[in-house]
Amino acid sequence: MAKRLDILVPFLNERESVAGFCALAGDLAAQAKERFGLDTNFIFIDDGSTDGGGALYGEHMTGDWSLITLARNFGKETAILAGLDQSEGDYVLLMDADLQHTADVALDMIGRIIADPDLDMVYAIRADRAESRTLGRYLANGFYWLINMGQRYEIPANAGDFRIMTRRFAMALRQLRDQRRFNKGLYAWTGFRQERILYKPADRQGGESKWSRRKLIAFSLEGFTSFSVVPLRMVSLFGGGVAALGFIYGIKILLEVLFTGVAVPGYPSLIVAVLVLGGLNLALTGLVGEYVWSALSEAKNRPNYIIKSMSGPSAVPLAQTRKTGRASHDD
Ligand code: UDP
Ligand code: MG
Repeated sequence: MAKRLDILVPFLNERESVAGFCALAGDLAAQAKERFGLDTNFIFIDDGSTDGGGALYGEHMTGDWSLITLARNFGKETAILAGLDQSEGDYVLLMDADLQHTADVALDMIGRIIADPDLDMVYAIRADRAESRTLGRYLANGFYWLINMGQRYEIPANAGDFRIMTRRFAMALRQLRDQRRFNKGLYAWTGFRQERILYKPADRQGGESKWSRRKLIAFSLEGFTSFSVVPLRMVSLFGGGVAALGFIYGIKILLEVLFTGVAVPGYPSLIVAVLVLGGLNLALTGLVGEYVWSALSEAKNRPNYIIKSMSGPSAVPLAQTRKTGRASHDD
């Protein structure tokens, strides 16, 4: 029997690129069949779109496809999980709906993963980002440096969700039911042999990027608190260091008063100490709060997502699927 390739496409308000994507999808499926003998099935995940674009896929798609409509916007990371839960392919490819991920890069990744049975994931790295020298890039590199400190596995910089994986990798990912999902961390945590290829994303075809600066910061914090205790340790160390310095300074003042009788003129140093320590305290409280919030989200053990409906030629009737993203223990 021919091997099956599932292509997961999470989307949020991508109405403008539906027709274009469906053309790309038909072309990609034909080439995957011709070059690798794969049967392709597309799984679209409507992550709470409000532009009615979801229905358009039905008008333009041919071949095997299904559409999972989530009850609201759960975020791309969770939408991917919803797709993984429904996928059964021997290979699973993740692609954006906005046409930034091109068919030739996808075919390149498919070819590589098929050629090497020992390889479980191929992911695309943005070549354009690796070279750029903007402030944002430096911040991002700093972020990856921090998050990877002292980790047993490395979360690669500049890699997104444009990836292909084997069935066993997909099964492993499905078992990770983190509520606050940071996929890049999960891919790395899973292990397995992974290979990277460089690519240059195409320009967005209509619509706009869903990533505001605010969202990126929130997302980075999510990455931190679910994959690293380093920030907590650093703050503790820093706090300890500051306290030690304060102690030494106190002794110095005491000695000065005892031996020279000069009282240290005070206010500026007091204010500095109060502000520095107060600020540090607040920052640390906030950081601890992040971890507590993270723990609370996991403790509630809510389903990761809720499915509203399933449609399309290869869709399983909703009654037969797990309607929610809660992990059942028999899979
Ligand atoms: N997306 C999604 N849910 C979200 C945000 C984005 O499913 O909450 C989809 C979006 O429609 C697109 C993909 O994720 O198909 C990548 O998003 P985007 O193009 O905004 O990110 P960028 O390419 O700018 O990194
Ligand atoms: Mg995009």
